[in-house]
Amino acid sequence: MKMRLSCIECDLPTILETEISEKNVYELTCDNGHKKNYIVQIQKFELLYELAAYALLDGYTREAVSGFAVAVERLHEYCMQILLIKNSVSKENRDKTFKMVSRMSERQLGAFYYLYLSEFKEPPEQIPGTRMKFRNNVTHNGEIPTYEKTLEYAEYIFNYLIRLLKKIRSIENIDQYELQYYGDYQMPTRVKEETLKGNPPTGMGVITMIGTSYGNWDYSDKNFKDQFEQLKNRERWLYN
Ligand SMILES: [Zn+2]
Repeated sequence: MKMRLSCIECDLPTILETEISEKNVYELTCDNGHKKNYIVQIQKFELLYELAAYALLDGYTREAVSGFAVAVERLHEYCMQILLIKNSVSKENRDKTFKMVSRMSERQLGAFYYLYLSEFKEPPEQIPGTRMKFRNNVTHNGEIPTYEKTLEYAEYIFNYLIRLLKKIRSIENIDQYELQYYGDYQMPTRVKEETLKGNPPTGMGVITMIGTSYGNWDYSDKNFKDQFEQLKNRERWLYN
């Protein structure tokens, strides 16, 4: 998948095309030689959900299901980081510990459950077994789900993500923890150094179904059916 960015240093806007990745920062040079860092304002789980939604629109239902499922895992990771930042755990120790479970999604889920419990003093929402079975049949047993079934799963996952994001945003001073997360994981040292030297990155906003960087702060405006209709109708910022 590719996306387009435009060079703001050129007299006439020059289009830059790049392959997307899970990173937030892209170092690109336009045809006129302007080398610049571009920060795309998007969270990993948000990008994964968006890619899965595109896959669904294009009829790739299996790919969509595994994309939605992995978006949930990455949101859990994000929540764990935010809760650990809130508890003043250093980046070094957070990363060291995450490495111990990075290849085992079940262990990550267990860690997320307990961090959630410790923060909110109540058990987290559990994704029902029937949903897990559906996902496993598709991702591991080669089931090719129908569009309708996948759409229903997409809606369930969307609402699950939004409920969890709402809960996280309800934490006092959450903006400070989000800012620290941004500095730790989305703003590479190289970009920080260049910013200090007077070459700050260009920020690029994108519109997504989850929309972490715009819309209502508490996600109260996020409704699956509206968002999915909008996705169908707006020009794609991700394309082949
Ligand atoms: Zn340029």
